Amino acid sequence: MFGLGGTGFMEKPIPVPGPNDAIIKTTVALVCTTDCHLVAGTLGTLPNITLGHEAVGIVHEVGTAVRTLEKGQRVAVNATTPCFRCHACQRGHTSQCNGLMGGWKMSHSKDGSFAEYFHVNDADANLALIPDSVSDEAACYTTDMMSIGFKGIEEARIPIGGSVAIFAQGPVGLMATAAARLLGAATIIAVDKRPNRLELSKFFGADITLNFTEVDPDEEILDITNGIGVDASLEAIGSQMALDSCVRVTRSGGNIVNLGIHSDGPTIDVLNTPRSVEMKALTIRSVLCPGGRDRMQRLLKLIEMKRIDPTKLTTHKFKFHELDKAFEMMGTKEDNMIKPLIVF
Ligand SMILES: [Zn+2]
Ligand SMILES: [Zn+2]
Repeated sequence: MFGLGGTGFMEKPIPVPGPNDAIIKTTVALVCTTDCHLVAGTLGTLPNITLGHEAVGIVHEVGTAVRTLEKGQRVAVNATTPCFRCHACQRGHTSQCNGLMGGWKMSHSKDGSFAEYFHVNDADANLALIPDSVSDEAACYTTDMMSIGFKGIEEARIPIGGSVAIFAQGPVGLMATAAARLLGAATIIAVDKRPNRLELSKFFGADITLNFTEVDPDEEILDITNGIGVDASLEAIGSQMALDSCVRVTRSGGNIVNLGIHSDGPTIDVLNTPRSVEMKALTIRSVLCPGGRDRMQRLLKLIEMKRIDPTKLTTHKFKFHELDKAFEMMGTKEDNMIKPLIVF
């Protein structure tokens, strides 16, 4: 029995697909900080639930109503697997499928993908074929890191040639940096404290890197933008301090996107920040992965066309039976871990 705070291996039967579902034989997976949040209880968790929501694999079995997939195909699936039928999905908020965070099912409301076989609901709408030239490892980054990082920049609505500050360069922040470059930002400022992450942010497209243990990033960003502030800023760590910085460094009328999971308090406090949101006419958006085959195909296309190489995020590799060790290291970011790849 594994509950809050505990992880381990257990035997479970191979899942059975409903009419619209598919069972995937896992080939590679990635450990996410969100998995660590689940173990810590920040996001609520179910006893004995299988963790993991970033994985790709081979179609093992499809339900009787699945039309577009067959056994043996190499597929990727987003961490979010919406139904595409409910009210939220029809309004375009697929991450909120059937209720708060309801689009996120794997490892949240049902067993996830740290298993030899995992279940995907609504397979025709959620599974995307992986192009031949895209490796399993690269494709695995579309399942969450590229998906959420890119969504953050899409929602930041940076004008062409505009500016953006991204607070924290973990894997999500790094993918936001890459997306900012792809979508035409001309001044990309990356903030972190770890030198290896700041170095990688330059690879993915940052023009300026700021180490907040050496300089005051807020002052620097205002200085770089002649006191105006950036068009948009992203909070990609889940800290009140970073969110406060976003409010300070974003120009009047600009956009702030929250990507981080705030585990350091019950609410996000935006009104007590030095220059409050309502007086600067700022817009704050929070986003989760939208999910869906069409979007997954577009993310995979970016890799196929060599616009991005997300495998630079892989700092460590483990076999499935070594998952415990990967988990432990991800919790503390030991040995400068960014992303551990799990090979099945
Ligand atoms: Zn994740
Ligand atoms: Zn839905």
